[in-house]
Formats: sequence, structure tokens, C-alpha cells
Amino acid sequence: MGSSKNSNKNFEEGAPAELPTVPLRDTVLFPHMFAPLMIGRQKSLEAMRHAENGDSLLFLVTQKDVETEEPEPEDLYRVGVVGRVVQALALPDGNQKALIEVLSRATAREFVEKEGMLVSTVVSCVDHLTPNRAQLALMRSVGEQFEGYVKLNPAIPDAVGSVVKGISEYGKFADSVCAYVVLPVDKKQEFLAERDPVKRLERVNVALANEIKVLELKKDIDEKVRERASNMQRDFYLREQKKIIESQLGEQGEGLDPVAELRQKVKDTDLTEEARKVATKELDRLAVTPSESPQATVSLNYVDWIIGLPWGQRTEDCGDLREAARKLDRGHYGLGEPKERIIEYLAVLQMVKRQKGPILCFAGPPGVGKTSLARGVAEALGRKFVKISLGGVRDEAEIRGHRRTYVGALPGRIIQGLRKAGSRNPVFLLDEIDKLGADFRGDPTSALLEVLDPDENSHFSDHYLELEFDLSEILFIATCNMEAAIPPVLLDRTEVLRLPGYTEDEKLNIARRHLIPRNMVEHGLNRRQFTITKPAMLELIREYTSEAGVRNLDKYIAALCRKCARRIVEKRGRALRITPRNISRYLGLPDHRQLAVEEGKVAGTATGLAWTMHGGRVMTVEASAMPGKGALHLTGKLGDVMKESASAAVAFIRSHAAKLGLDPDFFAEKDLHVHLPEGAIPKDGPSAGAAMAVAMLSALTGRKVDRQIGITGEITLRGRILPVGGIKAKVLAAHREKVRHLVLPRANERDVRKDIPESVAKGMHFTFVDRLQQVFAAAMEPASKEPKEKGKQPARTNGNGGDNGAR
Ligand code: ADP
Repeated sequence: MGSSKNSNKNFEEGAPAELPTVPLRDTVLFPHMFAPLMIGRQKSLEAMRHAENGDSLLFLVTQKDVETEEPEPEDLYRVGVVGRVVQALALPDGNQKALIEVLSRATAREFVEKEGMLVSTVVSCVDHLTPNRAQLALMRSVGEQFEGYVKLNPAIPDAVGSVVKGISEYGKFADSVCAYVVLPVDKKQEFLAERDPVKRLERVNVALANEIKVLELKKDIDEKVRERASNMQRDFYLREQKKIIESQLGEQGEGLDPVAELRQKVKDTDLTEEARKVATKELDRLAVTPSESPQATVSLNYVDWIIGLPWGQRTEDCGDLREAARKLDRGHYGLGEPKERIIEYLAVLQMVKRQKGPILCFAGPPGVGKTSLARGVAEALGRKFVKISLGGVRDEAEIRGHRRTYVGALPGRIIQGLRKAGSRNPVFLLDEIDKLGADFRGDPTSALLEVLDPDENSHFSDHYLELEFDLSEILFIATCNMEAAIPPVLLDRTEVLRLPGYTEDEKLNIARRHLIPRNMVEHGLNRRQFTITKPAMLELIREYTSEAGVRNLDKYIAALCRKCARRIVEKRGRALRITPRNISRYLGLPDHRQLAVEEGKVAGTATGLAWTMHGGRVMTVEASAMPGKGALHLTGKLGDVMKESASAAVAFIRSHAAKLGLDPDFFAEKDLHVHLPEGAIPKDGPSAGAAMAVAMLSALTGRKVDRQIGITGEITLRGRILPVGGIKAKVLAAHREKVRHLVLPRANERDVRKDIPESVAKGMHFTFVDRLQQVFAAAMEPASKEPKEKGKQPARTNGNGGDNGAR
């Protein structure tokens, strides 16, 4: 590089010179470097030839766009370099390879085309700078940075770093750094065009720092990628080894591989053809899945579910119906009618083998034995028993399962129940079918319908399983508290057997025969250790519990058994005998139970009989009349049907005002308010109509009502009394609450005769009525100014008979 001065005698700094010109496509040359070039374009070859024939000097300048094939003057940058051809070699394809020594930076004043080449008039410039201390410091710092850069950049030989660092001439140093930094062409051109070497070095310094950061980042990423790749390779290698070791151990009888184990199970289990195929395919997939991937767990669970289902397992039904009936009797006291219907149902089942008819649904308040009766059916038949609760199920997927693509997906409750049962023909209890909900997640009712439909359920497909399972051998039984709350489409598929609740007598028997012996066994007590007298039992039933079923009774008996067990264990005695005198010592005093109605006669109320999910209820209907404009206010969470009954009652009273001793226009100046207490509990149904009418009339006239008379009946606008449901439950409730005189629709007389046991009916009066006036007459004191009506009053009846008495 040092001898350049001698060779360019025609070329002086600052003096314009005409030089043959070679455009450069994608490189920028800097002074003081040797650059190998490939020259192929015709004009450039001509320029080369010209230079070689002359003083070997060329002007080399970068074109603005790489793509331009025949660059015109405006396609070229202005600042380029003057170079000397050190060596030129003609290649066989006509191109030339040249080695150029770059002498100095030069600016083109003018480009012209002549003699088949581009000729430029250029003025060259050389850096002259003796660096001061600050500039020296900058040089040193850039030198170190550059050395680091070279080390990071594999494209630059390491030696370049120290060579460049060793350059002491300021401009040459700056140009050398610019020449080696890998940057886009336009950026490098900017550095070349910078005449001031100090500024040039500063600018390249910034670019260098940036590049170093990028390279460091890249290195970091590269290392991580490499590390991960090598980890994966290592894992793969180890896994393969593990498989081989496991399979070898497996041959020696130790099943370590879950896949192999499942494969064996698939072989041994009685599956349908389809299920076997699906399970095998899943296992094949599992074999090539890394065992710690989430997919592997999903597959394992799936196959596990398939194998776990009772595809081929079923129990043999007990064919002896008489034996079945005996078993039912042994397990449950009373319930004659439901039991009989169950046995008939089982008889049909024996004849047709598959259940085609409606499914049985046990309806009644809690604790009347719905669940245990269903369990009894299973025991009587010798089938397995499963129960799923449908209370609060709002999502179709709970019945039919989630698709396996969901995280944590599971089969629906039907399939889960079957797995639990371990038999394909269990007795399957669908508990609380009336509490099924529906919302945006889909309607579980329709899924349940499919489960129960004998035409569809032989190929029931769960979303998770995606395999057909035949549900047609299952004996479904449903339970509900209120049959009115069952979705109508489901109600169509069921035959409702009502269990309205027990009488005191029945409760006594249930306790004596079932609850007490069972609790004694559960608490490890024998007959010498624990006794409870009949009067104590009656106290328990009457004072401690007030329920249609026997659930609380059962709990109290269990509590007494616990006390007894503790007493014996603590050696405070050897036995416990519960009597009315000591019962409160063990159970505390009964909650002060306010009877639903008090004795006495009051105006503006009536005692109604309702039928709720907890069984029959006695409730007070309150009415009051106040100055107003004929509005009817109803409170106490009344349903639409109940509100309509209230309106009908008002309409009747208005249209018969004169006869009832009221001013025909009374409604113009009065508002009526009717309230049904326990305001938070929703109530509905037409059966409170008669009681509401009595309360209203009493409020309007001031005629007092006997609160000890329970009233139920639907009313029409003309004042007819229509029959209502739940008579047995209502009568039992009235009996519990010591309401001994009931006014009932005449059409319900049959129910009373048929359903009410002698023990309950004995002490009660029933008045059967067809018309609302008869209800008024039976429940209210006579109107003083109402002589006409008097003759129409039906006679009050009592247990001894009379026209309207039931017994
Ligand atoms: P439900 O399902 O109607 O709420 P359960 O079946 O849970 O009621 O019954 C509650 C308890 O009462 C159970 O222990 C059950 O055995 C017992 N039980 C109810 N009715 C009878 C009955 N008629 N005979 C014997 N035990 C009964």
C-alpha cells in the first residue's frame, strides 16, 4: 500500500483528473484496502482495458440500486474511490477478475460516455489529521470495540481485529473500521461520503456498538437453541433406552410400561369390536408419543375409560317375583301401592326383556324413602345400583360428557355411573329430575330424553367416549319432589308413583322396624343396651320433628344411639332406655314449635292447605281491606296461577256482593291486600283459591273465621269448587299441625276415603263442598244481616258421619 505515490503520476490530490470508471453493484470500497473484483459488464471491461493500457488507475463508484444493469450518471453516487489495478485475470467466460488497490476517496464532478466506457472527472481527497488526545482515546476505544466485534462475527478473520487496532494513522484507521463492519451498502456509502475523518469515526463507532449488541443477542439465542436441541436429543435417546430396558424387564414379568399393561387389558377385557379397535388405535398412537407430553395422559385416560366400562358385564335378574316382593316388603314398611306397581313393572320387564314403557318416577317430599325404595328394587332384582343427582345440572355436557379436546374432559354422568356400577344393566336412579335446569350451556333435558328413549338409547354416544354404548338394559328410575316441576317432555316419559308422606302410625312402625334396628347396628349396640319406649318415640315424632318423611326422625335416633354408645364406652352405664322423661336430657328441649295456626277466631285470615316440595303445609292466608280505588295487592311470592285464583275470588265476591252483605260498590273505595306468609318461599297452584276468598270476605265484612278450619279448593268465577291434588299430603300436614276440621272439594271425597288411613281420619272432621258459599258458611261465623244465606249452610260434620262426612 505504501508505494502508491509512485504509480499515480497523473493523479494528484485536489487536481481534477479524467478516469475510466467502473460502477460497483453491491459493495463500497474504502481507501487503503485491496479489493478483489469480478468485472463482467461490457463498459466496465472496456474501462479495465483502458486502465491497463494507461496508468492502471480507475474510478470505482457504487451504484444506488443493485438491480440497475446499465447505470447512467444519475444512477451512481458521487463519492467513490480511485484505485489501481494490481492484477487482472481474464476468465474463460469473458469476465475479468481483478485485484484493486484503493488509493483515495474521490468525488466525481462529471460523468461522460466515450469510447464505449464511462469516464468521470474526479477530484480526490486525502485525510490529513494528527489526532489530539481525545481523538486518540476515541481511536483506542473503537479499536477495542472492533476487536470484540471481530470475535463475535464469524465472517471476519480474527487477525483483522488486531491489525486494524494497530493502525495509527487516524483517517486510515477510520476507513479500515468502516471497510470491515458488516453493514448495508447505503450505510457504508454514508461513511465513505463523510470527508471529516473525526466525524466518520464517531459515526462508525455508534454503528459498531449497535452491531455488537445485535451479535451478542444472536449469540445468546443461538446458544439457547443449541442447548434445547441437544436436550431434546438427549431426552429422546434416554427415552428410547428406557423403553428398551422396560420392555426387557417386562419380558421378565414386571409390567412397567403402562402402554403394554393397557394393551394386555384391552386383550383381556370383554369389549365390543368397535371399542377394541378404538382402544388399540389409541394405544398405537400412545406408543409413539413421549410419555411426559400432555397428549399421552389424555390418551392413557381415554383407554382407561374404555376398558373400565362394563361392555359385557351384566347381572342375572332374580326371576322369582314373589321373592322380589318379599324383599321389597322386608326393606320398607307400608308403601303398599308403590310396591305393587313396582312388582307389576318388574313382571312386564320379565315378559318383554327390554324396558319399552315409561320409566318409574317416585314423587314425594324428602325422606319418604324414594331413594331407598329404588335401592330396594335393585336388591329385589339382584341388580347393581347407581344414583346420580340431577339437582342443579344445567349443562348438557354433564349428561353427555365433554369432548376430549377440552382440558380435563370427562365422560358424562351416565357413563360415569355405569363405570361405577360395573354392570351394563344396573338400576340407575336419576335423583331430583325436577331440579334439572337449562341455560346457555345447552339443555340437559334433551340429552336425558335420549338416554331414556328406548328407540335411541341402544346406541347412546357420549361426547368424551365417542363410542356407542347400549343403555337399553338399564332400569332407570327417577325421583322428584314436585312432579309439576319436571320438564313436560320428560314427564311424558315417566310414570309417577306418589309417596306423599307418612302418618304418625306409619312413622312409628318405620322407626321400630327399620330406623332403630339399623342405627343400633351402625352404632354397635344390642337390644339390651339401647331401648326407646313408644311414648318417647311419639314425643320424638310429634315434638321434635315436623316432616312428611322420616329423615329427621332418623337423625334423632342416630343421635340417641351415639349418646348411648358414648355412655357405655365411658363406663357411665351399661344401657340406655329413652323415655319421655329423659329424652330432653339427650336431645335438648324440642325447639319451641309454634303450630302453624293458633286457636281462636279472627277476621281477615283463613287457614289454607298447601302442597310444597317438602310435602303438605298448613299456612295462614291474610287479607286486609283499606280505603282505596279497587286495587288488589298480592304479596308472598305468588305464582301466576295463584294470582289468577286471587282475581277470581275478588270477581266472585264483587258479583255476589249484595248476597254476601256487602255494598255492591264497595270495591270503588277499597283496596284489598292478600298476603301468604313465609313470603320468601315461592308458591303457586290454584288450590289456595277458596282460602283466599274466605280471608278476603272476612276482611271486608269483619266476619270472623275459625282458624282451626283448614281450607283447600280451586274456585271458578261462578263460585264452584274444583278438586285439587295432594290431598293425602295436605291431610297429613293438617293432622301434624293439629288442625282437625278440613273443608275440601267434594270431588276429592274419594281420595280421602281411599288414601287417608283410619288412624288419621279418626279424629278429624271433613266438610265436602261444591260451592264457595258453602266454604264461607263452614269457616266463618254467620253474618248477622244475612238471613237469606242461613238456610244454605251445609251442616258441619264430624267423625260420626253426617251428609258430608267422610267417615
Ligand atoms: P328420599 O329419597 O325420599 O329423600 P330416603 O330414601 O333417603 O328418602 O329415606 C330416608 C331414610 O328413611 C332412609 O334411611 C330410608 O331407609 C328410610 N325410610 C323411608 N321410608 C321408609 C320406609 N317406608 N320403610 C323403611 N325405611 C324407610
